[in-house]
Order: sequence, then C-alpha cells, then structure tokens
Amino acid sequence: MTFAPANQEFVERFGDQLPPDRFSRADARFLIEQRGLATGQPDSLVARPRSTAEVALIVRQANAANVAVIPYGGGTGLVGGQIRSAGPPSLILSCERMKKISKIKPETRVVTTQSGVVLSDLHAALGQQDMIFPLSLGAQGECQIGGNLATNAGGAQVLKYGNMRDLCLGIEAVLPTGEVFNGLSELRKDNTGYDLRHLLIGAEGTLGIITAATLRIFPKPVQQCTAILNIRDLGDALSILEQARIKLDDRVTAFELINLTGVDLVGKHLPDVRIPIAEKSEWMVLIEVVSLIEGDLDSAFNAFVEAEIESGRITNGTVAQSAKQRDEIWTFRETIPLGNRREGAIASHDISVPLDVVASFIESTSRHFHRQYDVRINCFGHVGDGNLHYNIFPGAGRVASDYRNVKAHISDYVYKAVLDTGGSISAEHGIGRFKKAQLAATADPTKLGVMAAVKKALDPNGIMNPGALIDVPS
Ligand SMILES: Cc1cc2nc3c(=O)[nH]c(=O)nc-3n(C[C@H](O)[C@H](O)[C@H](O)COP(=O)(O)OP(=O)(O)OC[C@H]3O[C@@H](n4cnc5c(N)ncnc54)[C@H](O)[C@@H]3O)c2cc1C
Repeated sequence: MTFAPANQEFVERFGDQLPPDRFSRADARFLIEQRGLATGQPDSLVARPRSTAEVALIVRQANAANVAVIPYGGGTGLVGGQIRSAGPPSLILSCERMKKISKIKPETRVVTTQSGVVLSDLHAALGQQDMIFPLSLGAQGECQIGGNLATNAGGAQVLKYGNMRDLCLGIEAVLPTGEVFNGLSELRKDNTGYDLRHLLIGAEGTLGIITAATLRIFPKPVQQCTAILNIRDLGDALSILEQARIKLDDRVTAFELINLTGVDLVGKHLPDVRIPIAEKSEWMVLIEVVSLIEGDLDSAFNAFVEAEIESGRITNGTVAQSAKQRDEIWTFRETIPLGNRREGAIASHDISVPLDVVASFIESTSRHFHRQYDVRINCFGHVGDGNLHYNIFPGAGRVASDYRNVKAHISDYVYKAVLDTGGSISAEHGIGRFKKAQLAATADPTKLGVMAAVKKALDPNGIMNPGALIDVPS
C-alpha cells in the first residue's frame, strides 16, 4: 500500500478550519521507541487536536488524501505499535491535549475521561474523591487512557478487577473514515448487537482513534495487606494462590511471581531501590489483599500466611507493616522491568499459559535453555493470570549481541512451547509491529480472516496505523 506524505500541502488542506498550532514537525519524543528498538520517519508530522471534532476533521482529510495516520499515546507501548518506520512521512496523531476528566460519579462508579489523560493523573483525580481506577502499571506516569484501551492493558490487579476490556463501559472514537462513533455509554447491560467498543479495545489503533471513554471506578480500599513471600518451590505457587482464594476470597487483588535473577538485576542496576525481601530464595510471590469495608483483614491475612508457613510452602517473607513498606514492595516490583532493560536481554517474551501448567512450562523450557546455551533466565510476572515475562539474558561476562545467531531460535522455542500449552504469544503488550509475523504464523486462520475483513470494512483505504497488528492486502 502506498501513501501520500504528511507534508505542508496536507496541512494546507485545512485552510482556516484549524489553528496552525495543531500541527508540528515530529520531534524525537514521537519518533524514537523508548528502548531504541524502532525509529519513525524523520519528516513525520504530529497533529495535536483539542477536541473530538478536530480529530474527526483531521482523520477525514487524511483518508481523503491517502495519508497514513499513526495514533500515539504516551509512547510506552512495548511492541512498536506507535512507531512506523516504513513509507513516506506519516501523520502522528496525539491526543495529549485532550485531557479532560469530565465526570466522576462515585455513586454510580463511573468516570468519563478524554483519551489523552495520563493514567497517573486519573488516579490522582479519583483519589481526591476516595475512589480508584484499578489499572496500575510501571508506565502509569506516561501512558494515556487511549493507549491503555488500544492495547487492552492489564497490570497487577487483573485478578480482582480485570483488564481494560473489563473496566471500560463505553468508548467514543473517530473511525478511519472520519465518522465519530458516539459510544460513551455508562450502561452495564446493553445487548444491542455488535459491540464496537470491544473491537476498538485491543485494536492497537488500527480501527480508529479513541477519543474518550467511560470507565468503571471503585471505592478506595480501607484496608490492605501486602507481602513478599519466599516459596519452597515454584510448583507451590499455584497451591498458595488457591489457598489465598479459599481463605481470603475475592479480596486477593495481586499475585506476582518474582525470580531471584530479577532481584539481583534490580540490586545491580538500581542500587537506590530498596529490596524488601527477607532472604534470597529462587522464587518469591508478591501477594496483596484488600478490603473495601472495615473489619479485621490483618488477622485473616496473617492466619493465611501462618498456615502456609506451617504447610512448608512458604519458608520466609516480608509482610508490609506500613503504607511506606507497601510502597517499597510495589516500587521494587515495578522496577524489575527496568533492571531487566538495563541488563540487556537476548530475547524477552510477554506470554500467558494456563495456570495449572505455569510451573511445568517454566521448568521444562528453562531446562532446555540451560542445556543448549550459556544463559540466565528471569521469569516473572502476573502469575495469578498465568502471565509471565520470560526474559533470557547472556551468561556472565557475555553480551546480548554474542547470541545474534540464536536469538530467533530462542524465541521460536518459547512461542512453540507456549502454543503447545494452549497459551498466548502476547498476554498484555499486544502485537504491534514487533510480533506481527508471529501472529500471522500462529493464529487461527479463521480469526486472521475475520480480522482482515473487519479492518477492510472499517478502514477501506488502510490509512489507520498501517503495518501494525495485521497486514491486509489492498
Ligand atoms: C515499564 C512498563 C510496564 C508495563 N507494565 C504493563 C503491565 O503490567 N500490564 C500491561 O498490560 N501492560 C504493561 N505495559 C504496557 C502498557 O500497557 C502500554 O505501554 C500502555 O498501555 C500503552 O499506552 P501509551 O499511551 O503509552 O500508548 P502508545 O505506546 O503511545 O501506543 C500503544 C498503541 O496504542 C495505539 N494508541 C495510542 N493511543 C491511541 C488512541 N487514542 N486511540 C487509538 N489507538 C491509540 C498506538 O497506535 C499503539 O499501537 C508496560 C509498559 C511499560 C513501559
């Protein structure tokens, strides 16, 4: 597919319909993937509209002029969906000026927000009314609600609250033709046919620009217990989660797996971060439980921990005694990806496998890699959802580039092993441009056919984020 460049001639199409400050040349912020893994076209244009009507006007003109539009949020996406390197200069469309939180309704537990709102700003605004939006992740100071929806972000509390798909009641979006979809519903029940909201969530900007959303919010918990527990054996993690659910029910909000390699990398690269673990052991779990009502959560949680120590599954641990210690535990957990990044992985994989095979999957693949290569493995993640970040690092004294020839074999092996379990090659980061070939090679052909048909129907000229997620023949 060939596109026209987003140049001065394109800007002139708007005449006096848009103030000139809506367009500027793209600077490095919009062109360089945060880890330096991709670079956008240097002459790209950035559009920064102030309203949905302006987004619609811009997209309508782009569609008419055959200019490729790249939706851009906070630029934190990990699969290159927000960076287009190929073709003539694109039009990068940023909603960063659309950051109004228009309605917070604690009584019906709904917030209406524009898509350019930064996730941590939404947290702060809701906090003033003792409410929370439960999506929380390491990039929350930069990522935007539009990007979170477009990637169907999950994070650490999916166990209790679900991912963006579960948290979103309604969406407003500008479709690739420039039409506005007014779907800002606050309804929990609405069975009126195809749900465009769910097409747009997780579409990674290939079906339109999300401009606003209505999201579910929750009362701020009044009690919280957080702990990092050393576990005897990886295989015990699932039993510990099961016991936590039996004894603490749906109050369990997070259940994270932590590996010693991740701890060591935080220690090595981020010496200022306090590591709140009792002792070094191969595997640890971070567990958090919350209560929305007054009561004795501490006693119930301590009883659970004591019973697990008695059973031998937990060998030691740190239970947060204050809000400060809880913050330290989460800061440490959220810093693990940065420690990994600074170390420099040979290959990283964001995968999910069925819960009951998590341990056998990690053990058998690790055995294979240690037998074949001189590597270190840090496997961690939201294990309560079966979501693992399976990162493979060079052996001591070596660097990632030493493994250039085997990198593809390593990833192929991981993905094949994942698919053999009935798992997913992308648990939470999406497909973007980096994982498109794997999706094309491994997805159900009927699914791929329907995706292509949907893309063609909504975006007949293929202008919306071309090259991301799926290639559709013209
Ligand atoms: C340190 C770190 C930790 C992370 N932890 C987690 C985690 O625990 N769980 C998890 O699920 N994810 C995690 N992520 C990934 C995270 O979900 C995404 O980076 C984030 O949701 C993307 O938001 P963004 O605004 O930065 O979007 P961008 O990176 O700007 O864009 C991402 C994709 O969304 C599209 N897009 C952006 N805005 C819009 C819009 N308004 N309309 C339509 N399409 C749009 C882009 O075209 C692109 O395809 C993490 C990322 C980092 C860097």
